[in-house]
Amino acid sequence: MVKKEEYIKAVKEGMRNPEYVRNIGIIAHVHHGKTTLSDSLLAGAGLISEELAGEQLYLNYDEMEAERKLTVYSGFVTMVHEYQGQKYLVNLIDTPGHVDFSGEVTRALRAIDGVILVVDALEGVMAQTEMNLRQALIERCKPVLFINKTDRLISELKLPLEEIQKRIEKVIAKVNELIEKYAPEQFKNEWKVDVQSGKVAIGSAKNKWAISFPWMQKTGITFKKMYEMLMNDQLEELQKKCPVHEITLDMVVKHLPDPKKAQKYRIEKIWSGDVNSEIGKKMVECDPDAPLVGVVCQNRADKHAGMVSIARLFCGRATPGKTVYLISEGKETKIQQVAIYKGPDRIVIDEALGGNVVALIGLGKVSTGETISEVKDIAPFEEIKHYAEPVVTYAVDVEDPKQLVKLIEALKELQKEDNTIQVIIREDTGEYIIGCLGELHMDMIMHELKDKRGLKVKRSNPTIVYKETITKSFGPIEGKSPNKHNRFFIVVEPLEDKFKEAYESGLISDGAVTKKNEDKYRPYFEKKEDADGCIYVYKGNVLINATKGIQYFDEVKDYLIEGFKQAMDAGPLVKEPVTGVKVKIVDAVIHEDSVHRGLYQIVMATKPAIHEAMEKAGIVLLEPIKKIEIMTSMEYMSQLINELQRRRGRIENVEEEGDNIKIVAYLPVAESFNLANEIRSITAGRAVWYELFAGFQPVPREILDQVIKSIKSRKGLE
Ligand code: GDP
Repeated sequence: MVKKEEYIKAVKEGMRNPEYVRNIGIIAHVHHGKTTLSDSLLAGAGLISEELAGEQLYLNYDEMEAERKLTVYSGFVTMVHEYQGQKYLVNLIDTPGHVDFSGEVTRALRAIDGVILVVDALEGVMAQTEMNLRQALIERCKPVLFINKTDRLISELKLPLEEIQKRIEKVIAKVNELIEKYAPEQFKNEWKVDVQSGKVAIGSAKNKWAISFPWMQKTGITFKKMYEMLMNDQLEELQKKCPVHEITLDMVVKHLPDPKKAQKYRIEKIWSGDVNSEIGKKMVECDPDAPLVGVVCQNRADKHAGMVSIARLFCGRATPGKTVYLISEGKETKIQQVAIYKGPDRIVIDEALGGNVVALIGLGKVSTGETISEVKDIAPFEEIKHYAEPVVTYAVDVEDPKQLVKLIEALKELQKEDNTIQVIIREDTGEYIIGCLGELHMDMIMHELKDKRGLKVKRSNPTIVYKETITKSFGPIEGKSPNKHNRFFIVVEPLEDKFKEAYESGLISDGAVTKKNEDKYRPYFEKKEDADGCIYVYKGNVLINATKGIQYFDEVKDYLIEGFKQAMDAGPLVKEPVTGVKVKIVDAVIHEDSVHRGLYQIVMATKPAIHEAMEKAGIVLLEPIKKIEIMTSMEYMSQLINELQRRRGRIENVEEEGDNIKIVAYLPVAESFNLANEIRSITAGRAVWYELFAGFQPVPREILDQVIKSIKSRKGLE
């Protein structure tokens, strides 16, 4: 174990030199070994005992949380690693990667500059590997690759050396395919991984060994030698000669960027302010002498300290006693203590400089994503984006009306912790509606409400969120204001796929498009005139001003946007949200007197006309789809396929691996309820599966009328 004094000395030195700091996370598909690798790194760095590491079995969500609090770490830890005679601080931030709820991952990604992507050598790249890597790349976190469970290829599958190498190559190729697809343009090549450059480590997190090309060169232990050692039962020797933490942390230090380097290209991506402003420049430069600016990426309860906020600092320094502003809340608060975590132990330090991730105590209740700053008038960090949106809603109610206040409080808190949860109060019925990502997600929310907070709550049956769109263009259609003084000519067109994809993957988001930010949107339009005229993006739809020189247009622009938003919030077919529609205003006549062109007049001149144009273009109803991967034994294949097809599932692929199979299918969310129980009962519990939200698709014609009828009757629309 590292001695406390030595550790603190290294931490202090690291804090003063951002180039000796790395802020990283580990991402993986569930079960691929993220927890085991974290433990092994922590143990290797002397922060937890060797015996504990690698012995943890997979635990479910709650058990995992409980267990981790007792033993290892939760959230954030600082390791000291020596590389080529220099001590480096490696801040490891937990990036949870549960099925169905991904908001937390995005939050953690804001705090780090690089990730170790763990991929199981047997299973290869899976759905969540792709989802997590994609998010990391979009947030501009650079990856290195750890191919895990290589031991099983040798001890279980008894594959020959060439076969193992082939598998590894396949994993690397697939990862590079994803990097090509999702990495920022300027890094597509630089961020690709390969063995020769040392950006790939191959090993076993559980058995605590690994090899990499630089390590082979240093020690002479080649891939072949490693293979022979394992075949000859020389595990202990291999562990000693190729300790997993050394190889992995060497890779991290060598290939993942230090904060100074990373902030140069990350600030413009994760901060909504102007990077050329005075404070913007200081953040880009990671200037320790600037005012303090940081973002809270996690909150954790500490037995002794109470609420602890884990924050990434971008410039300035955090010291006890310093007053900071919480920008979104508009409140002032004081840092009482600054600390880091050495495994489970909190170690108080006297100062932390920009570039580091630290624990701040005393801020009080802060939302994750909140900007903390010593200067008051600073743009906040972009609202934490979520690439997943609610696809199912449930109404919830308490049995005892006295618990209503508690329910509202609990829902507010849940929403703070997990931004993928939406809470809507329906004024007409007084119902509390929770929007979430699926059945499993709702189970977790109910568990929180009932078991953890002691509320007696009931939930309704789920309601699917449908969407309305068009596949053809129509227009112009004339929209008149009720007072007949204002006229707008409106065309609707399907939005280009490029734009939709960029929107869905979070590259662009809702809001006004102005001279300042239009370059962000421009590449996703086919036509230059559309890009030039785009004024607003809302829920994956865009509003375009295709008029020239119309008087008073700017005066009514905000009202037009309001009419557009209302038209998109509830479509003309069944009042479900609209998506993928381009609304163009091609001509207009606007009254010169502002009294005659107020909000109501303009909204009424546009919203019905947009809807009419959509109806004439032909409305397509879309339903949410899930991708599901089921791993089980061959004998259950036909029954499972039958079950999936009965639920309107489309089987994409069935892969065989010995006696095991992996079924990949797409399934409408509407047909997926209670599927978990069905799979369990068919396979007698012998199946592992993963689900992921996979976008929206048209409701098939055969059932369309039925679906429309049931939505209308639910909403009382007829
Ligand atoms: P996580 O869900 O990604 O955190 O995965 P865990 O770290 O919990 O690992 C899942 C399972 O795989 C556990 O049973 C681990 O013991 C096992 N495991 C992890 N790494 C290895 C490895 O290198 N070799 C083998 N054979 N099993 C491993």
